[in-house]
Amino acid sequence: MRVLALMTHPDDMELCCSGTLIKYKKLGHDVIACHAANGDMGHMVIMPPELREIRINEAKKAGAMAGFEVLTADFGDLTLNAADLSQQKEIIRIIRYANPDVILTQDPSDYMVDHTELSKMVFNVSFAASCPHFMPELGPASKVTPIFYCDNYNGLNFIPTEYVDITEEMELKEQMLRCHESQIKWLYDHDGVDAVADQRTHARFRGIQCGVQYAEGFRQLIADQRMRPYRVLP
Ligand SMILES: [Zn+2]
Repeated sequence: MRVLALMTHPDDMELCCSGTLIKYKKLGHDVIACHAANGDMGHMVIMPPELREIRINEAKKAGAMAGFEVLTADFGDLTLNAADLSQQKEIIRIIRYANPDVILTQDPSDYMVDHTELSKMVFNVSFAASCPHFMPELGPASKVTPIFYCDNYNGLNFIPTEYVDITEEMELKEQMLRCHESQIKWLYDHDGVDAVADQRTHARFRGIQCGVQYAEGFRQLIADQRMRPYRVLP
């Protein structure tokens, strides 16, 4: 299978679904991890142009630890807009390039505008990307795929319907998150949270719910053409 994680900022993949992606990779599937926004607003001191470079490099370093292909749509933070045609085009181009069998993305109820706009945009354009006469210059049409919405930072408003046991992937997930040094500092300075400790607690909490040590939770998009008669998650 080809697995596309279309997440928002450079650390969202590590926080929300990296354990599952590591598991896909171990099973021999191709994993493409794309962050739509470049993370350029996520620091108290470092200015956006420099931060953009730092965060793209942190994401590449983290993805390389697990053998993922890492892409970015390079949108500025706080600019995501599901109705923006130029942004839609870029996401269609990425979906057609990845030609995925499944997409993991942010939940529509997530906590901030970049996440919720991306969620909406992925739902819309992942269908548009399958229509061969729609913007053919962006590449050959892709399939209409299942979409799984990822858990959010602290699980508020999110009841998983499916779980993935990431007990064996937990250490690498944490090492990957630690690559996002600038973001870990931002989350501490801006939100007063310890992201590394919190993601372990969160994975343990989801693990309790499904009877394993650590887990990630997901919610499948229930819609026509998005269903499969077998389990898609690893
Ligand atoms: Zn984010």
